[in-house]
Amino acid sequence: MKMSKLFVQTLREFPADADVVSHKFLARAGYIRKLTSGCYNYLPLMWRVLKKIENIVREEMDAAGAQELLTPFVQPKELWEESGRWEVYGKELMRLRDRHDREMCLGPTAEEVITAIARDGLKSYKQLPCNLYQIQDKFRDEVRPRYGLLRGREFIMKDAYSFDLNEEGLDESYKVMAKAYENIFRRCGLETKMVQSDSGAIGGSVSHEFMVITTTDAGENDVFYCDGCDYSANSNHAISNLPEADTDGSKFGFNETKIIDTPQTHSIEELCEFLHIPSTIILKSLVYIVDKKPVIALIRADKEVEETKLMNVVGGIDIRIASAAEIEELMVEKGFNAARGFIGPKGMDGITIIADKTVKDLKNFVVGVNQEDKHMVGANLSDIPAIEEYYDIRLVQKDELCPQCGKPLKVTRGIEVGNIFKLGTKYSKPMNAVYLDQNGKAQPYVMGCYGIGISRTAAAAVERYHDDNGIMWPVQIAPYHVTIVPLNNKDELQMTTAKDMYIKLLNAGIEVVLDDRDDRPGVKFKDADLIGFPYRITVGKTIVDGNVELKTRATGEIDTIKPDEAVEKVIKLVKEAL
Ligand code: ATP
Ligand code: MG
Repeated sequence: MKMSKLFVQTLREFPADADVVSHKFLARAGYIRKLTSGCYNYLPLMWRVLKKIENIVREEMDAAGAQELLTPFVQPKELWEESGRWEVYGKELMRLRDRHDREMCLGPTAEEVITAIARDGLKSYKQLPCNLYQIQDKFRDEVRPRYGLLRGREFIMKDAYSFDLNEEGLDESYKVMAKAYENIFRRCGLETKMVQSDSGAIGGSVSHEFMVITTTDAGENDVFYCDGCDYSANSNHAISNLPEADTDGSKFGFNETKIIDTPQTHSIEELCEFLHIPSTIILKSLVYIVDKKPVIALIRADKEVEETKLMNVVGGIDIRIASAAEIEELMVEKGFNAARGFIGPKGMDGITIIADKTVKDLKNFVVGVNQEDKHMVGANLSDIPAIEEYYDIRLVQKDELCPQCGKPLKVTRGIEVGNIFKLGTKYSKPMNAVYLDQNGKAQPYVMGCYGIGISRTAAAAVERYHDDNGIMWPVQIAPYHVTIVPLNNKDELQMTTAKDMYIKLLNAGIEVVLDDRDDRPGVKFKDADLIGFPYRITVGKTIVDGNVELKTRATGEIDTIKPDEAVEKVIKLVKEAL
């Protein structure tokens, strides 16, 4: 490809709405252009990257025994009613009507469609296991489309669905997919961590996410991991053991139960300061709204609630902390008069109360009693409504202890590029998707599903590999492997050398861009760095001594070598990487 012909327009500035590195560089380097909120045109450079990722995914999925198919982007409401998701899937589901007033949606995922395909085709135990996948655009009307390709509304996903006879079969399919994912991300030049994750309200299910660990702001997930063993989990699923703490208020003089004045103590810090106590002897009561209903969460006050865990205990699909107005409304309803900071579980009959496991060990503690500027001290569990069960709704914090080996946990940020999920019979049962077993009895398939964000993976690679000057693609997914930059294209020797190398590289199957533009060297270098070609061969004045420069983008290393050596070296480096 000649640079003069390549469809790429680099920008001087980052787009104003880009707030993460990958969005900034992909836009400025001419890979993507926004069409409308959360929807991007993938320009030729981007499309090459995406196709490379797709091809790696395809090869590894095929090698793992999965079969590719393609389903329509628009899906009928009826199928979603069969699974029961038409009602529960929120506003992310883009619903529409056709001219006959039939309701449909833009596919955000394809469990229903592919389960229906399996139901039509997989009738006998002899046909199982089976794994079907596609690489397709998905549409989700995300609340906050942001971060460019990392969280778009329309994006490219590989989604696979496995159908097995039983749980053991699913375990095996799941393992095969985990291995395929490892291969995929390694071949994309990306290191990933496979971490345990939340699998929604369906109890007992297992799921893992593949995270690209990144130091940029774009990592939306906290990943807790242990150096001492292989434990690692998304914060929405992580558990930990707690170091010893003072949890008995009698140590701080609270030996009898009484209500005392605690003026203006709206926060835990203020309360601790006022009473000269650690927060470990306070029971904190937080009001959440889960699926529009108030829920009170109880937890030891030095800890935070993990919202996904709480939501799963309640069995909801939507959670947020209550506003001041909602708390006031609740107080009025229950005949109290207290604001945030003074809320407590007593007198909240009819409201769901969920207690964290940390509550169980509290003795002679401090707790709100729904009276402004007052707290109960020296309280015990008998002083609050009876708690039948204690749950883990606690957000893990750094340096708490690994649940497997007891070493202090570490935390890092990660971008989820893929996930694998044991669905069991969640879809096959309601959709009556069954096979006949050896005894001729109908059994629902035991299913798994496996997603990879193709476009998100490309963006995650940019988050992971860049410097101030631009992108540093891993060779495996770079749009082109190498660029040849003659510094002065009026110089005949420079141009003939450059063209000669260009032909040799092309013939060797190397993807090469010859920068034949009549521009200043500075402009050409800037573009080469911004676009992120893994290698750059510069043909300048040293060509009179028979030398060119070979620069490696990732390391900045420069070799001064003969043109033929540069060609050989690039061929070798690229072949080794692929
Ligand atoms: P997230 O928690 O990031 O919203 P998810 O749990 O909704 O992801 P899945 O529904 O399992 O993700 O989708 C499979 C994969 O598709 C994800 O692992 C991710 O890589 C990708 N993906 C999901 N949502 C988006 C999006 N809005 N933009 C780009 N890629 C996405
Ligand atoms: Mg999502």
